[in-house]
Amino acid sequence: METSKQQGTINVTSENIFPIIKKFLYSDHEIFLRELISNAVDATQKLKTLASVGEFTGELGDLTIRVSLNKKKKTLTVSDRGIGMTAKEIDKFINQIAFSGAEEFMKKYKKDANAIIGHFGLGFYSSFMVSDQVEIVTKSYKRGKAVNWSCKGNPEYTLEEFDREDRGTDVILHLDKESSEFLEEERIQSLLNKYSRFLPIPIAFGKEKEWKNNKYEETDKDKIVNNTEPAWTKKPADLTDEDYSKFYKELYPMSEDPLFHIHLNVDYPFNLTGILYFPKIRNNYEVQKNKIQLYSNQVYVTDSVEGIVPDFLTLLHGVLDSPDIPLNVSRSYLQSDQNVKKISSHITKKVADRLKDIFTNEREQFELKWDDLKLFINYGMLTEEKFWDKAKEFALLKNTEGKYFTYDEYKAIIKGNQTDNNGTLVYLYTNDKEEQFSFIRAAKEKGYDVLVMDGQFDTHFLNHLEEKLEKTHFVRVDSEVADKLIIKSDKKESQLNKTLETWLNPVFKSQAPGEGYFVTFEALDATAHPVIITQSEWSRRMKEMSKLSGGGMNFYKDLPDSYNLVINGNHPVVLQIGEGLMEAYGAKAGEFDAEVARIQSDQESLEKLLKGKKEDEIGQEEKDKRSELNKRIEETEKQRNEVLAAYGTENPLVKQLIDLALLATNRLTGEALDAFVQRSIGLLGQQN
Ligand code: ADP
Repeated sequence: METSKQQGTINVTSENIFPIIKKFLYSDHEIFLRELISNAVDATQKLKTLASVGEFTGELGDLTIRVSLNKKKKTLTVSDRGIGMTAKEIDKFINQIAFSGAEEFMKKYKKDANAIIGHFGLGFYSSFMVSDQVEIVTKSYKRGKAVNWSCKGNPEYTLEEFDREDRGTDVILHLDKESSEFLEEERIQSLLNKYSRFLPIPIAFGKEKEWKNNKYEETDKDKIVNNTEPAWTKKPADLTDEDYSKFYKELYPMSEDPLFHIHLNVDYPFNLTGILYFPKIRNNYEVQKNKIQLYSNQVYVTDSVEGIVPDFLTLLHGVLDSPDIPLNVSRSYLQSDQNVKKISSHITKKVADRLKDIFTNEREQFELKWDDLKLFINYGMLTEEKFWDKAKEFALLKNTEGKYFTYDEYKAIIKGNQTDNNGTLVYLYTNDKEEQFSFIRAAKEKGYDVLVMDGQFDTHFLNHLEEKLEKTHFVRVDSEVADKLIIKSDKKESQLNKTLETWLNPVFKSQAPGEGYFVTFEALDATAHPVIITQSEWSRRMKEMSKLSGGGMNFYKDLPDSYNLVINGNHPVVLQIGEGLMEAYGAKAGEFDAEVARIQSDQESLEKLLKGKKEDEIGQEEKDKRSELNKRIEETEKQRNEVLAAYGTENPLVKQLIDLALLATNRLTGEALDAFVQRSIGLLGQQN
């Protein structure tokens, strides 16, 4: 390096790196600015460090990094007053080292196209993505001349001495034709906002403007684009709640206030700082993902943290800063990285600890915010085993009275009255307090407590709870009549005999509102509703879950809705309908039954004859006889049922009771509702 002018060929053993830089990093062109500014910040911080240990004794002076545009010359310049480089260092760091990195990079790209596309951190050379020519004018803080290095995007460069007083480095990009966008102030301003917002050294771009002489005029004050001391770099003890809210607003100017924050600060076994915020999330959780910003030493890296934090934590907002997260690798590699795994489980633990802390020390606050936190916490419990282990202590259940309980507390409360004859604890819940009001009331009258489970994936979550909590079953209040929600040993007697139940079945069935209704009889209290419509917990839950998860559960999704039309065998109106039926059709139905009995006795004699014979020893004639008798029973019963169904049409009370049951669950509308009102008026008239 003796001559004042040097020429050389950049040391690349693989082919020329430049076409690769231009071609493959196409979508990420803009990151050149981040790379150059990061280098400038590094150089400045190195100088500060040298000063602090007494190796640099000169004046630090103003260390502001400056970004400037020259539209005429089509240049973009990044200037710093950092350590600078000597000619030797240029040779070492720019001519040699950078390209050994490039070689490695090329090896990698041959294997994994994703790595190249997602790759950045090419450092200084990324400036060739946007330039025809790049110059470095630099003067080291050490003794010696300033130098000018220049390269036109091919492996040849020039390096010559240069006149420059001041310590530091200017990197001058001669922007190529395709990159003229980077001559626009707004474009650069927005890039600086994105990448440099929280860098630790002040960065100036342009001048502050002032309202003067009826227009905005530039002052001579630098416009600093970054906050050099963002909240996460400070000690938690030095920050107030207000500071945290202020920082949140700085990150997300349009957002509502967050619920809580967590300040992360780890230095062993990895470095991690950051502030995470719990946003208000109710049901639109998808929309809110990807709000966490990832930094590496205050340099913005990405806002897509999937793979770095567990999925449920991507619902949080805030910043994470860690120099230990490898940046220039593909996502799949990232997910298997040991450091990343440690960081991920550390964050999970911290989040759980913080929630536990708020729960323990500020339970009232915790309960107030539970409805907003619930989705996030339940989602975490569902997807992260470790989070479940911690969260089960503070996760809450809410009942219809708006009271909150931990799992243990709730268990203690319902244990006495809501354990069934198998020793299973039955948790009752509603997903719609209005619609299921009469079921809730009926359950409460039995002394039961009812939970509110109206969240987006509560069905999934209660499945999970059933798996996790011992001998636990969740039952929605409208899936059974109150007496049968929790099966205990005390069975009531029905005042309807079996024959009458059989006859009443087609009577009610004929007036059911649709195909999927199955008539059943229960011996309930005389004061309970006469007819109640329930929907089986199991099939309903399967349908709900298949809607959410799709895939293999499609079978359930396509099942028709099915309901039980439960008739209270002890209700006076039902008994009255039964009496009326006996009077009007008892004799006729009796005849059909007698006919059935006759056929059945023929059947018995036939079976006696065939007794002991194996299937292949029975003759065709006998087989025919057997199936004929079966058919005759079926037909006779069908005829009987048709006759009985007529009574359903004749007696308006039957339809009235079914409509009342529909009305009680808010399912009577339109024409059916109008008919109900008409009928009700008619029935009132009959009473007078
Ligand atoms: P990296 O920054 O990843 O090391 P670069 O290619 O960006 O890779 O830079 C190579 C080296 O050049 C840096 O490590 C640094 O020593 C030197 N360098 C780059 N920019 C500057 C600068 N503005 N001031 C002083 N040294 C610099």
